[in-house]
Amino acid sequence: MRRRHVSRAAVGVAAAMTSLVVAAPATATPGAGSAGLGDPYFPLAGNGGYDVRHYSLDLDYVRADNFLDASTTITARATQDLRRFNLDLRGFTVTRVTVNLLPATFTREQEQELVITPRVPLRRGKPFVVKVEYRGEPTEVIDPDGSSEGWVPTADGAFVVNEPQGSPGWYPANDNPRDKATYDMAITVPKGITAIGNGRLLSKRDHGGKTTWRWYEDSPMAPYLATATNGVFELRVSKAGRIPLYHAVDPAEAPNGAFDVLAIEAEVIEFFSDLYGPYPFSSGGGVVDHAPEVGYALESQTKSQYDSTPGEGTVVHEISHQWFGNAVSLTVWPDIWLNEGFATFSEWIYDEKHGGQSAQASFDQVYARPPTSSIWTRPPGNVGGPAFLFSGTVYDRGAATLQALRVKVGDRTFFRILREWYARGRDGNVTTADFVRLAEKRSGRQLDAFFDTWLYQPSKPTTW
Ligand code: ZN
Repeated sequence: MRRRHVSRAAVGVAAAMTSLVVAAPATATPGAGSAGLGDPYFPLAGNGGYDVRHYSLDLDYVRADNFLDASTTITARATQDLRRFNLDLRGFTVTRVTVNLLPATFTREQEQELVITPRVPLRRGKPFVVKVEYRGEPTEVIDPDGSSEGWVPTADGAFVVNEPQGSPGWYPANDNPRDKATYDMAITVPKGITAIGNGRLLSKRDHGGKTTWRWYEDSPMAPYLATATNGVFELRVSKAGRIPLYHAVDPAEAPNGAFDVLAIEAEVIEFFSDLYGPYPFSSGGGVVDHAPEVGYALESQTKSQYDSTPGEGTVVHEISHQWFGNAVSLTVWPDIWLNEGFATFSEWIYDEKHGGQSAQASFDQVYARPPTSSIWTRPPGNVGGPAFLFSGTVYDRGAATLQALRVKVGDRTFFRILREWYARGRDGNVTTADFVRLAEKRSGRQLDAFFDTWLYQPSKPTTW
């Protein structure tokens, strides 16, 4: 689903946001969808020629064998005539592929390309359904920064987190944040194991020695935000207003106060809803697993994932990503500060409004770092490569950029900009250039030099 902003676009800013489609690389073979969408950091992620509307994942996982027996059914629309097209998938034995119910031929190329040739070529503009059946041991995806992601086995299940490129390690996808879609998942696990997908829990059914958990996410979601974390968990369901919240805690983490820290979610949602605009999704929640080898948390849509019991700041950070990162998604990975800078600023402003230190004091702490610090030598708008996607500058200097903007344009204009950023970008994709344009428009100021200093110069800003 690539929802453009056209429908809401009466004014220039929104119109500008519609025009930032990154050109896909030219296809070599006529009638073939491209093998990537040209992301500067992950050129093979995503594929050209179609637009996914919905994923239906059917997963059967047995941790004892670390074996996944699965099928994924994708409903999409061809955006060009296609004699063949690609999905992103790593590893597994693919046993069968059908397109519009007819068996299709397929090959595997490079590390993540599943190339599918339907029996009947697809016509531009037409919807189609592709079903991929596959099985095997999930491939762990190691990031350029050395971190593990994808389907990461734990003692009793798997911790499933995919930013930026873990999804093809467990399901075939158009793995690019530009192609958002709705999801439903049926996750079958041995009885006694809890499986947590995105969105709302539709049903839980026991059969034989197994249980099938069905989840449904009804808002468009970038493929990297999908999850299917499973293991021994205590699941508690509560509400934030009318929105169900699902909190799952590994018994190994319960003594560390995991449920108590997750319980701040209702208030955090209310706080950011007042500040930025209504919570974007129809459910919320968080999963505290015990997966120490992972070493990070992730804002998986409606179900933030924590590898251990988080502090309050981390919970606030991941929940704020539901607005900035999940509802308002980046277009290309080098713009990652639009996620992490905004989430870190959200922690700062949450503190400020909850009796903690002011966002300016947080800024001052960051600004006190010496000019030799990597946050100054590595600018957040251009970190230099995928190995640095989640480096400190993206978080701290990214957040400092927003606080500096706040001081420059004043609170009233600043929060108006953030609210409009969310309202217009919600369910869509954005770029840094869009943000600069919006900030200039609403402040009535020329801000190119300001943003260049903060986001792109490899040195500590001195005047701005
Ligand atoms: Zn983050």
